[in-house]
Amino acid sequence: MTTTMRAAVVPALGARLEIRDLPKPVPGPGQVLVRMETCGICHTDIHAARGDWPVKPQPPFVPGHEGVGIVEEVGHGDAVRRPDDRVSIAWLGSACGRCRYCVSGHETLCEAQQNSGYSTDGGWAEYALADERFAVPVPSIVSPVDAAPLTCAGVTTFAAVKNAHVSPGERVGVFGVGGLGHLAIQYALISGAIVVGVDVEDAKLALATELGADVVVDARDDDPVEAIRDLGGLDVAIALATSSESFEQAFRALRRGGRLICVALPADGTMQLPIFDTVLGGLSVIGSIVGTRADLADVFDLHAAGRTRVIARTRKLDEINEAIDDVLAGRVPARLVLEF
Ligand code: ZN
Ligand code: ZN
Repeated sequence: MTTTMRAAVVPALGARLEIRDLPKPVPGPGQVLVRMETCGICHTDIHAARGDWPVKPQPPFVPGHEGVGIVEEVGHGDAVRRPDDRVSIAWLGSACGRCRYCVSGHETLCEAQQNSGYSTDGGWAEYALADERFAVPVPSIVSPVDAAPLTCAGVTTFAAVKNAHVSPGERVGVFGVGGLGHLAIQYALISGAIVVGVDVEDAKLALATELGADVVVDARDDDPVEAIRDLGGLDVAIALATSSESFEQAFRALRRGGRLICVALPADGTMQLPIFDTVLGGLSVIGSIVGTRADLADVFDLHAAGRTRVIARTRKLDEINEAIDDVLAGRVPARLVLEF
């Protein structure tokens, strides 16, 4: 049995990634060793590798939090997961299980949480460790290539739609139709919303239409706020583009009683909000961070039931730097997934 594995490593914040041979990890109590089949490339991984946010990861580290693979080995103790189970490794790598957030169904707010590919090594490697309680099973009918984007992009937008309390017939704007947005459109449609897709690329606008968006708005030529206000404004605006300007446009496109759901994390993220309009319009601004294990299980079940489509292309681990360049340049259909 081999004792090493290949992994994409961030050697220093902002540096190109290096493919290195690392020792194959050994699962401790409560952990499983997962032989990775796929792992998606999320924008958060790129922010992590560059150290873009106030809380920085410690290099060297292995990014990746859209991991899917097969349990190869179980650590000591009573294990729920068994060898040969297909599981996911999501951003929420573990949480304490005892704090007020964990016990009230808000484990994604746990202050003691560990994050895969950020505070612990993630899935851009042939093997990864997972806390078995947080390794949500993947139904056998869901392919590993589909399951990877569902593990972050899927659960994150599913939770955003849930946190917005979308009702049938409400108008929902999805700002940014990429890895997250293409799934956000589908969850909003499942909830019965009229969906408006907003983007700045022809291919993404075409994708929004193909996935069932009722209206698309090209934020390059139209004033997107005017165009959406002409429709009557939005009940819910989901901000998925890593641009502060897009957040402000999403806010201004709301009609009275509207909710802005903040999901993307622009590196320089600040937002100016008019207090007068917020108060008189009864507007809400809601932060939504990934989703719980129960949300992820629901996401997999919806996909298994044929209600969602994942748009993804696969790459090899060796191509990681080129793949990141392609994501940053917008040269990808929706999601790139590393396949091992
Ligand atoms: Zn992510
Ligand atoms: Zn907790």
